Parts: sequence; structure tokens; C-alpha cells
Amino acid sequence: MVPTPDAAWSVLAVSVRAEAAEAVAEYLRTLGATGVALHGGGRRLRVVGYFPPGGGYRARMRALCRFLGDLEGWGLDPGPARVRHQRLRPADWTRSWRREFGPLKVGRRLWVMPAWRSADLPPGELAVLLVPGLAFGTGEHPTTRLCLAELERLLGPGDTVLDCGTGSGVLAVAAAVLGAGRVRAVDCDPLAVAAARATVARNRVATRVVVEQDDLAAWLPRQAPASLVVANLETELIVRLAPLLAGALALAGHLVVSGVPRGRASEAAAALEETGLTLVRRRGRQGWCVLVSRALPARS
Ligand code: SAH
Repeated sequence: MVPTPDAAWSVLAVSVRAEAAEAVAEYLRTLGATGVALHGGGRRLRVVGYFPPGGGYRARMRALCRFLGDLEGWGLDPGPARVRHQRLRPADWTRSWRREFGPLKVGRRLWVMPAWRSADLPPGELAVLLVPGLAFGTGEHPTTRLCLAELERLLGPGDTVLDCGTGSGVLAVAAAVLGAGRVRAVDCDPLAVAAARATVARNRVATRVVVEQDDLAAWLPRQAPASLVVANLETELIVRLAPLLAGALALAGHLVVSGVPRGRASEAAAALEETGLTLVRRRGRQGWCVLVSRALPARS
């Protein structure tokens, strides 16, 4: 599972203003990067491109510096850009791979792994390929892992799924990989939408997964009832959206919410039960919780 390249890879890291980061990431891909990651947050981001062994880094470095110089003319100010080149020996690669990018086993048979790895898995095991760092959701965060485990547990062939706040698209694509018939995903952040669409394309599930840019409050009421709704969001948002999340569920469907710190689980559970849902499971991981509830017919 862990890559064992026999020669050094080349890594170009560029620190730029956030507004220019996507353009730089795209340019690194056109220069031949087989993986690109965005790190950090706030006003500056570090864009890192990984180039397979084979040389040519000086030409790439020159082209990148020219590109950065031209960016401002297109209205995307990279700010004082710093470019660093590094060679990554197999030993380092293995270490940084494990630290930053998995591959991660996130369920009984589900893996999340970087997009530039070909999925080389034992029969019966499934992989979601991700470009790490582009948006929230590398599969490493405990809340994402809790949701992935529930998707694996609950999904059956042909199920319909809504992914509320898709980030990198990890949950939407995992649902499709696990056999969901149709998945609709939404995020209000255009960078997340771009990342999720890239994840969908990379995993070849575009016929079953649609990603839209919208606010959940407007989007949820427009959705046909789904057999599974997953929402890994902040607790305030879950509490506020609870009636809309419940309203998007088909009868007997499951609602999976996470992003809830342990100390706030009962507050989130109360908001869900208030909508008429029945809480069926609560699990925790590193101080975080996932709550699973169901739309069951009222007992008379
Ligand atoms: N589903 C991924 C990402 C969760 S992070 C995972 O489990 O790892 C939460 C995502 O919800 C972010 O990408 C954020 O942009 C999005 N989000 C937050 N509030 C939203 C809203 N009101 N409408 C739509 N998306 C929202």
C-alpha cells in the first residue's frame, strides 16, 4: 500500500495569497505534477506540487516564476511568492506520505488514498481517491471517519444520498463507491465545490454524483427525500438546520450527523428528536461524536 518509488521525486512548494492558490495549483498540474496539495488557511496558502522522478525541475521552476509574474496581469495577485524546490527521497516520501496523506483504512473495507496512487487493493476492498488539502475532508479528521464508518454500515445498493457540506467530496464519493444509486452533494464554498467535482471525476462516479454550489438552507427544501442524509457540520448549524435535514429524509431513512464535540452531543440529539426523528446510535472518536437517527413512523 505504501509507495516505494525507486528514485527521488521533485517537490515544488509555493507560498501565495489565497486568491491565487487555485490558479497556481492548476498550473503545477499542467507542468506535470501528479499530485497537488494546498496547506494552511487564512490569507496565504502553501501550494505543493509533486513531480515524479525524471528531472526537468529547473525548467519547471523558471516556468513557474514566469507564471507567477504574469498572474497579477490577470487580476490574481499572488503577493510576495516564495518558491522552494525539494527532492523527496523514498524514505522521506514514505514518512511524509504516512503523516500527511494516508493511505487510510477508514472502515472494514473502505480506504481513502491520494489521487496519484493507483488503487491496488485486495479483492472486495474499495478506495476513494482524493487530492488531499484542496478542501476539508482528507478522511483523517475524526468526524469524517465517523461518517465514513456509518456510510459503510448503512448503505445498500441503490440508496439515494444527500451530502450536506461536501468539502472535498469524500463522503459523497464514498457513498457512490459503496453502491449508492444516486448522490447529491452541496457546498457553499466554491473552492470546495471545485475540489469535490475533481474528486468525483477522479473516481469516475460522475454518472451517480452531482455536486452543487448553494447554501444548505435553500438547497435542502428542494431535494427529493433521500434514504440517507449525511451532514458533517458545526453543531450550531446542525441544530439550526435540524428540521430541514429531517424533512429531506425518506420514511425509514437514516440521518448521520457529525462535527459535534462530545460535550454538545445531547444538545444536537435533542434538536434532532424535536423534529420527530428517533436517535438510533451515537459513537465517539477523539472527543467527537456521530449521531445516527431515523425517520420512523410514529407509534399510535
Ligand atoms: N463532508 C466533508 C467536509 C465537512 S466540512 C467531511 O466530512 O470531511 C463542512 C463543509 O460544509 C465545508 O466545506 C463548508 O464549506 C460547508 N458548509 C458550511 N456551512 C454551509 C452551508 N450553510 N451551506 C452549504 N455548505 C456549508
